[in-house]
Parts: sequence; C-alpha cells; structure tokens
Amino acid sequence: GHVAELIAAGEVVERPSSIVKELIENAIDAGANAITVEIGEGGIRLIRITDNGGGIGREDVPTAFLRHATSKIACEEDLSHIGTLGFRGEALAAIAAVCRVELLTRTPDSQLGTRYCIEGGVGGECEDAGCPQGTTIIARDIFYNTPARMKFLKKNVTEGNAVESVVQKTALSHPQISFRFIRDGVDKLHTPGTGRLKDAVRELFGRSVADNLIEVSHEAPPYRVSGYISKPQYAKSNRTLQHFYVNGRFVKTKTGMAALEQGYKNVLMAGKFPACFLFIEMPNELVDVNVHPAKIEVRFAAENDVFRAVYTAAKSAILNFSD
Ligand code: ADP
Ligand code: MG
Repeated sequence: GHVAELIAAGEVVERPSSIVKELIENAIDAGANAITVEIGEGGIRLIRITDNGGGIGREDVPTAFLRHATSKIACEEDLSHIGTLGFRGEALAAIAAVCRVELLTRTPDSQLGTRYCIEGGVGGECEDAGCPQGTTIIARDIFYNTPARMKFLKKNVTEGNAVESVVQKTALSHPQISFRFIRDGVDKLHTPGTGRLKDAVRELFGRSVADNLIEVSHEAPPYRVSGYISKPQYAKSNRTLQHFYVNGRFVKTKTGMAALEQGYKNVLMAGKFPACFLFIEMPNELVDVNVHPAKIEVRFAAENDVFRAVYTAAKSAILNFSD
C-alpha cells in the first residue's frame, strides 16, 4: 500500500531520456556487454535499445510488463537501501502505457525468439521471431495517447541531447560495456568496452581530455574516491566535464564540485574549471537517494566528510603529479 504509493509518486516516464535510462538499466541488469541505443527525432518518434544480455523467456514476457510484478522492494525500509539498478518493477509497464512498444527477445537456451507488441498497456500475443540472443525494445511515439504530457516535451534536439547525455554518463560508469549511440541514422558514439575508464573518456571526449588526466585513488573510510581529474594546465572554461558518481550512480553534487575545485586552489587560473570523472563509494545509509527516479541531486548525511574525502583525493593526486 504505502510503498506502492511512494513508488507511484515518482513518474518513471517524463521524456525520452527517462525511457532510455530505464531500458539501459534493464540491459545492464540482464548482463549485456554490448548495448546499442538508437533514437529518431530526439527519441520522440523512436527509441530502439538492443542488448546481448540473457533475454526474457517467452513465458515471462507478458508479466514483465505488469506493474510491480518484479519489484525488488519488499518494504518501505528498502527504499533507503537501494543498491541495485532497476528496483521498482514498473519501468516496462510505465513505458508501455505511454508508447507503442515492440519487444524482440531470445534467451541462450532457446532456438527461437519471441516478438511481443503492447500499445497503451494492451498486449498482443507472443509470436515466434528469429533474433539474436538478447533483447531489443522499440518504443515509438511517446505520449501519443496523452497529449497533455506531450506538450511538455522540448524540441527534438533538446530531447536528443538529454538522451545522448544519459548514454554518455552510463558509458562512463560501465567501461566494461560497449555502448553505441545512433541518432537519426548517424553514429554518435561507440565505446570500446575495454573496462578501462580512460578508454571510454577518450571515445566520448577526445584524446586531449583522455591524455591529460591524473589518476585518483583515495581511501578515507567509510569513503573511497577514485577515477580521474584533469591536469591543472588542461582545465576548461566551464564545468561540463565534471562527472560525479556515488555508488555507481551519476549524481549532481555541489559538495563534490566545491571540494574538487578547492583541491586545485592556487594551481588553476581564474575562470578555469577542472574536469573530473570521480567515483565516490560510501555506505548506502550515508546517501539520501531520492525516491524520485529521475532526480539526480544527492544529499549526504555527512556533507563535511564527503567534502574532505573529495578534497583530499584531488589535492593529493595533484601534489603527487609531476609532469
Ligand atoms: P525491474 O527492472 O525493476 O525488474 P522493469 O519493468 O524495468 O522492472 O523490467 C521488468 C522485468 O523485465 C525485469 O525484472 C526483467 O526480468 C525483464 N527485463 C526487462 N528488460 C530486460 C532486458 N533488456 N533483458 C532481460 N530481461 C529484461
Ligand atoms: Mg528496470
């Protein structure tokens, strides 16, 4: 009852990028090491996500689209301990409620795949389909049946940029997965999936960024900060290359930004900003993970401790670096 209401309060589908985020998380959960995201017209007309994960057995296909059928949350308590991706068991149901959805999937133990279509929440029959192992989900015409919500969508280019940003952020936190992004038929990115963060950075932001990073690795129990920050002389004129993750999830954190920049005090020119790809690990109970799935702002139980951990991580990496 109460948990369901809390969950329902957060609408899963706000715009194409929220669909892409959920579908990528499902593909990751399914063990894929290659994920292709394709969009047409900013994702408003078409979203197609293909993975090479474990697939869905035919008998499980219709239930996967039932609301909360698969929720891993047993009680309200669990909401504060959200560790795994895909915890709400309502993404597919929510997406199928507002898009025309087509699913193609095949498990490794089955010769034949399954095709299933669901529109406005109404599913058809499962049909035989020849398809590679894994899952393809196509979501067309977002909000075709809810014009009031369609009105809130921005221009194709803005929605498409938001999708691209989701793919980039996920590719950085999962360098072992090869991500490919195709926008209106044009290949926009293709990470190699080597498992090395720097290789993903090079693909996404270019050689000059990737070749001018300093490695960060700092333990301050119960915190751990790792990843890369830019060499002081390669700072940027804005903060768009500042990427923070907490326990694997992309976040916006003013504390992190301030701590990072404090670490560069006296070594950065005025008006210049460091780049960073920083992963902060901490016990889940020290992070306020917002119940709203689309929110990325975090609050920490001990902001000062997080500040000190990030500051010290950056400062010591800069001090140790000589070039
Ligand atoms: P949740 O991820 O919270 O379980 P979803 O609605 O996102 O809920 O997905 C429902 C179920 O459908 C998942 O639990 C999973 O069993 C199955 N599923 C969804 N996407 C995939 C995928 N790409 N590969 C394999 N199984 C999937
Ligand atoms: Mg999910």
